[in-house]
Amino acid sequence: MDSVEHILKSLNNFVKKKICRSDQPSIILILKALNSEETMIVKQFEVGSFSVFCYLIGDEETKEGLFIDPSDHADELLKEAKKNGLNEIKYIVNTHCHVDHIMGNAEMKRKTGAKIVIHEGDAPYLTRTPPDLLMMFSATPSPPADVLVKDGDLIRVGNVVLKVLHTPGHSPGGMSLYVDGMVFTGDTLFVGSVGRTDFPGSSWDVMEASIRKKLYTLPGDTIVFPGHNYGSSPTSTIQYERRHNPFVRG
Ligand SMILES: [Zn+2]
Ligand SMILES: [Zn+2]
Repeated sequence: MDSVEHILKSLNNFVKKKICRSDQPSIILILKALNSEETMIVKQFEVGSFSVFCYLIGDEETKEGLFIDPSDHADELLKEAKKNGLNEIKYIVNTHCHVDHIMGNAEMKRKTGAKIVIHEGDAPYLTRTPPDLLMMFSATPSPPADVLVKDGDLIRVGNVVLKVLHTPGHSPGGMSLYVDGMVFTGDTLFVGSVGRTDFPGSSWDVMEASIRKKLYTLPGDTIVFPGHNYGSSPTSTIQYERRHNPFVRG
């Protein structure tokens, strides 16, 4: 098993490279009315210093919403939710347990009362971020999860239903979320890249199988919403990644 020291060493360059980014969230993409009832809201934000993509998903009609990985800028994210009529944030959904994705959980939960949702395989690690990593990321530890999910479970906000796809490999309980022709892939699949597998609990073989069996089997025109802004564009499609992703070709 890799030591914390090893993680810190491998993260060092990454952090140096990313730390100088804007400290305001930038709204990358706004998609509205994509489902048949035309009431679903999907927004993509790049937040914090690590190019994390946070997503706001909600139902205009019932005014309920959720955030995927709201790791920074809680006030600005909540302002955006309000602007779109989403008065109730029901869930904070973490694609996985890594500190760059969960470091906003405490503040967002305090401000909304939302329930923290994570895959059961990553739940034990959610509250065990090593102190050195918390310090390096200037991060607040996450409260424990309120809802544990597994493959096939459904997460509902109003009429919008997200299906949990267990996509381990980057972490044991990594998950992607599928809704109406869109898939939120966390750190499993990026635009033109894939997640790292040199962390404790990571496995290349497991991740490759997740991408091939759970993601590349989705319809080709499914929009890929990744967990970081690492690619040449903020989104992609399953078909494009199957054909062009240099790490896993379908
Ligand atoms: Zn990660
Ligand atoms: Zn990440």
